[in-house]
Amino acid sequence: MQLVRQKEESAMKRHGPRRLARGPVCTTLVTLLAAALASGCAAEGTDSATGGKRPAPPAPGQEGPPLLKPRQEGPPLLKAAPPDALSAYAGEVRRKQAARVAAARKQVAAAKKWRLAKVPLAAPEPPAVKPRITTRKGFEVTGGETLPPVFTTVPTKERIVFLTMDDGAEKDPALLRMMTELDIPYSAFLSDYVVKEDYGYFRKMKARGVTLSNHTLNHRYMPGLSYAEQKREICGQQDRMAKEFGKRPTLFRPPYGNYNGDTLRIAKSCGIKAVPLWASEAFPDHMEWREWDRDLHPGDIILTHFRGPGDWKGSMPDMIRRVMKTVTDKGYAVARLEDYV
Ligand SMILES: [Zn+2]
Repeated sequence: MQLVRQKEESAMKRHGPRRLARGPVCTTLVTLLAAALASGCAAEGTDSATGGKRPAPPAPGQEGPPLLKPRQEGPPLLKAAPPDALSAYAGEVRRKQAARVAAARKQVAAAKKWRLAKVPLAAPEPPAVKPRITTRKGFEVTGGETLPPVFTTVPTKERIVFLTMDDGAEKDPALLRMMTELDIPYSAFLSDYVVKEDYGYFRKMKARGVTLSNHTLNHRYMPGLSYAEQKREICGQQDRMAKEFGKRPTLFRPPYGNYNGDTLRIAKSCGIKAVPLWASEAFPDHMEWREWDRDLHPGDIILTHFRGPGDWKGSMPDMIRRVMKTVTDKGYAVARLEDYV
């Protein structure tokens, strides 16, 4: 190895350093690096064959050893790159690869612990720029062009879905642990009338990276309320959540998914940017589909609730097991809603 390094250094002296290629070329570099390491070993073998003596350096004007000659095949990038940069790059690649392997092992262990049928698929990197979201056709209100968009699916081509949980009645500590250990993102839409029994539970949720959003103070049917009543329900919950969690939500979901023009105007007036509804709903024992094809689609928002055996045929972990089986079987990953909206 030392020999290769020396030769490269002397080559550098002669040709001068060039920039290390970046981007896709790096993959080529890794391959080249591997080839170089292999040829380095061969050179070492030759070296030991000569009794450890290194070949004499070339006299001025004389050609160096064959390894230094520019090879016809392959790009000349490897010889041109500073050896330190190459080894640093190789180290970085190895570290990233090791991190990926460790994360995958952790996922397998967590899936086994929480009795998931399959290991959840990993979501792709979030987009650099969030997609432009518009109101779903048929969900518009009169004069709603400048109001927060109402949608059930996020525009994306990725095989991802989003998991959202509403209300806040059931406060199962196992859910917090399960979602953290499985590293499954989800968003919570909270109603004060059930959350107020234990704001601490949701503060723990927030500390685990979950975004908490507005689902009104008392979970009433918005279109049946006056403007002033709706304002109290929506903006009152904005204030309440700001006080309890230190942050005003930007996402709002009207109870039962029902709203009118006033609902959206009021929501906008107190800081709401978007109104995500849902394309399907998860229960511990089944899915309820809202789309005609009874299937998942890229960007679909899945609704579920903070409920337990009192309301459901199962616990919140049972519900997660069921919905994750559906999502994974269909080849989807769960992504973080706030990375896209
Ligand atoms: Zn609700």
